[in-house]
Amino acid sequence: MAYDYDVIAIGAGSGGLSVVERAAEYGKKCAVVEAKKIGGTCVNVGCVPKKVMWFGAHIAEALRDAPDFGFHVEQKGFDWATLVEKREQYIRNINTWYGGYMEEKGVDVLQGWGSFVDAHTIDVDGKTYTAETIVIAPGGVPAIPQETENAELGITSDGFFALTEQPKKVAVIGSGYIAVELAGVLQALGTDTSLLSRKDLVLRGFDDMVRETLTDAMITSGIHKEYHFKVKKLIRADDGTITVESEDGQHLEGFDQVVWAVGRNTLIEPLKLENAGLSANGKGFIEVDDYHKTSVDNIYAIGDVTGQAPLTPVAIRAGRYLAERLYNNQPHIKMDLSKVPTVVFSHPPVGTIGLAEHDARSQYGHDSVQVYTSVFTPMRYAFTEHQIKTALKLVCVGEEQKVVGIHVVGDGADEMMQGFAVAVQMGATKADLDATIAIHPSSSEELVTMR
Ligand code: FAD
Ligand code: NDP
Repeated sequence: MAYDYDVIAIGAGSGGLSVVERAAEYGKKCAVVEAKKIGGTCVNVGCVPKKVMWFGAHIAEALRDAPDFGFHVEQKGFDWATLVEKREQYIRNINTWYGGYMEEKGVDVLQGWGSFVDAHTIDVDGKTYTAETIVIAPGGVPAIPQETENAELGITSDGFFALTEQPKKVAVIGSGYIAVELAGVLQALGTDTSLLSRKDLVLRGFDDMVRETLTDAMITSGIHKEYHFKVKKLIRADDGTITVESEDGQHLEGFDQVVWAVGRNTLIEPLKLENAGLSANGKGFIEVDDYHKTSVDNIYAIGDVTGQAPLTPVAIRAGRYLAERLYNNQPHIKMDLSKVPTVVFSHPPVGTIGLAEHDARSQYGHDSVQVYTSVFTPMRYAFTEHQIKTALKLVCVGEEQKVVGIHVVGDGADEMMQGFAVAVQMGATKADLDATIAIHPSSSEELVTMR
């Protein structure tokens, strides 16, 4: 049977674009369906705008510390709208570039919501297209807890990126990646920021050293950290501000914005999976095997919708490997998800790969694990009023002291980790790190000089 396309991807985000790009390079006829903007979450409302704001926040911090280095600076203000306008122009350029790139590769971009008609047919806003292979890559949207009264008075990360005026006072609810990143940016740029966590430390699941050091650093930066604060309801006050009420009756008042940063939901409903004989599991993820195949033979799923680490490079790798398997005679290549490096763009940033100490001890046995740590004030802050600590940890196992985890919180962690991730991926031991000559003066040299 002849199909319109060899492959259609639903979702032009990190995953969907990668699979069609690579498949087109192997001569396949491809289309990608996109309801919103090409580039998906990462480009439009994720990594890219976030990182621009993070750079802005860094400049604010440099200005703050400039007098300590002898500069007489007079800060006449900060124009949020200018930064946002430049950021959005930058994103529009990426959108335009992607559109041209897809055209160059011969990939059709089908604008509209895609849904299954059957296992080989997709409806895009009333027009149908068939394909031999269909790849589901719809990503997700920010979650808003249904159980909270008036939750809709709050915005999400999408709403944060839509703000054209700087809010004066903000409550960020959550304690994961997005909560700490947005709270850090807001505080550094001069917004009075509160972080409302239902537990104590931020970044559940990360190594305890990272969690403790970052939580302390956020408080030192001036963020009001509310612990064990379970939000019951949001209330619009007479003056237009928002009050947050906790389950135990506390009230925090006067916020002009409240930001929900409590996880993301997959975008399943519009897909009409049932028409293809598919369904999502109880958590809203589409289950796949090691080769990203769903329970229907010609349908694959990649990216955030699979429940695998919801990170752009993971979605991109999944898309590229899928095309390599299907169209470049490499049927057995598969992703190694056991060592996914990641950076949280907090203030200071966190870089991590592999197992946290607690995970290593439960996986390998308490006594098989050896840990090396170093905590210090880096030279950048040696004589500034604001002292921001750096903390590093190596987690090693067995007699040969194989490095199974590296965790860093501190300036430079974001750029430091990629190289160390290569070492961990290659199976480096503590002796390999020790044999490496240090780069001085740097924070990363601690990782090759720990005793
Ligand atoms: P997406 O990129 O979400 O793309 C899915 C696309 O599909 C969307 O454009 C959507 O409109 C479209 N779509 C959905 N359903 C349909 C349909 N039925 N029909 C047509 N189109 C549809 N990751 C990092 O690695 N580093 C970071 O610094 C980072 N920062 C982030 C910051 C924020 C605020 C957020 C929210 C996320 C961040 N992420 C980051 C995560 C990263 O953005 C995602 O992991 C990544 O975008 C997932 O790619 P994907 O292809 O699965 O989905
Ligand atoms: P996360 O899963 O990182 O964190 C969500 C956190 O919100 C949970 O850990 C939980 O913390 C807390 N939470 C959940 N429900 C509630 C609630 N009702 N009230 C208060 N707190 C609640 O999700 P994010 O939305 O921050 O980010 C989604 C994903 O996007 C991340 O997992 C990450 O993979 C990706 N991302 C990556 C970035 C990067 O690479 N730099 C940046 C941003 C996002 P607890 O249980 O401790 O209360």
